[in-house]
Amino acid sequence: MQRKILLNENEIPESWYNVVADMPNKPLPPLHPGTKEPIGPDMLAPLFPMELIKQEVSQEKWVGIPEEVRDLYKLWRPTPLYRAYNLEKALDTPAKIYYKYEGVSPAGSHKPNTAIPQAYYNAKEGVKRITTETGAGQWGTALSFACELFGIDCEVFMVKVSYEQKPYRKMVMNTYGAKVHPSPTNLTNAGRSILAQDPNSPGSLGIAISEAVEVAASDDNTKYALGSVLNHVLLHQTVIGLEAIKQMEKAGDMPDIVIAPFGGGSNFAGISFPFLRLNFDEGKKIRCIAVEPASCPKLTRGQFRYDFGDSVGMTPLIPMYTLGHNFVPSPIHAGGLRYHGAGAIVSQLLKDGLIEAQSQQQNRCFEAGLQFARTEGIIPAPEATHGIATAIDEALKCRESGESKTILFNLCGHAHFDMAAYEAYLSGKLVDQEITSEEIAASLATLDTPVPA
Ligand SMILES: *Cc1c(COP(=O)(O)O)cnc(C)c1O
Repeated sequence: MQRKILLNENEIPESWYNVVADMPNKPLPPLHPGTKEPIGPDMLAPLFPMELIKQEVSQEKWVGIPEEVRDLYKLWRPTPLYRAYNLEKALDTPAKIYYKYEGVSPAGSHKPNTAIPQAYYNAKEGVKRITTETGAGQWGTALSFACELFGIDCEVFMVKVSYEQKPYRKMVMNTYGAKVHPSPTNLTNAGRSILAQDPNSPGSLGIAISEAVEVAASDDNTKYALGSVLNHVLLHQTVIGLEAIKQMEKAGDMPDIVIAPFGGGSNFAGISFPFLRLNFDEGKKIRCIAVEPASCPKLTRGQFRYDFGDSVGMTPLIPMYTLGHNFVPSPIHAGGLRYHGAGAIVSQLLKDGLIEAQSQQQNRCFEAGLQFARTEGIIPAPEATHGIATAIDEALKCRESGESKTILFNLCGHAHFDMAAYEAYLSGKLVDQEITSEEIAASLATLDTPVPA
């Protein structure tokens, strides 16, 4: 019985896979927030180094991973792929369940897969400081570590309520050498204007993005970094799925279904796009399922249209499935999934029926997370439990039908900083949130952005 399928360091992929090359319909171009005309790379230049902008618009199928990045990936990659025998037994299912575990990274999630190359390209172009925002703290942690490796100063605007609720995340970032500000701050115009209206503002991801972008845009030596949604972020994460294909081959198996939780799309893209390539190139029919919270259902109940990436309306307009950038999801414990929109690539793939989306209620997710922890031993990040819930649903369908499908899911992080969420579940305090169609319609009605034909 082989539980763990491992690769050697020299089997870390040499290139990332760019799904855009194989998409029958390419993602629509981002638009200028003011003129609503397609933007060129020059508009992004104040915020990102040129190499990342090139990757953002690239249609090349393979993008080489720089040797220095591959070498740093070796700190935790290749990550293990497990066969979940104990879970299969507990479910009494003929299905075979595999999971790729990204929680072995220094930050405890998949986020360093893109933080390292982003810091690398910034360092190569002489950038001295990077600003970013963080909500739950996963992205800030990953970027702090990556910046430290390349001698770049890192400044993190952390949503104030998270800063106060998750002091250990802040300490981890400080340990990696980053400066962490509870946002809103009085360091920026955006922050000062919020504080003038409400000195006790708890902050939001939208405000923190505005602060980080403002600092980067007003200093030549400073750039900005984002941990999800954008095309270059998804590209870097494909290292997950490329490794997983090699591991599935070693196991003599291939998934029928690939499942991942969905916030802005990076861990879903990371595991699923390389398998989608097998559908495009080899005619395979692997189902790729993105799983979002029922309380923030942009993929399953949102509208495909142009919308802003932030809640203040400063970013370019992105063609996406969205609930509207003013949508405020209920405070579910999977903080990493509380985002109003999806990236351009994932949205186009969903529109074209090439991937699938489902939603899950949070109590069901924690029930699945607990069953996973009690059989396989790893306590999954609240975000990751969404993928596990759908993997279990599919395995139970196999028990009904007697079919033996092979299921692979992305265990994108562990929950060691999120135990308060498990405590809330175990003491019966979690409430499922159903949002009404009227609420979604009301949020979308506030948009005056283009709707593509
Ligand atoms: C950030 C995060 C997510 C959500 O972001 P994606 O870009 O959709 O992957 C999910 N899980 C974990 C553990 C995260 O840190």
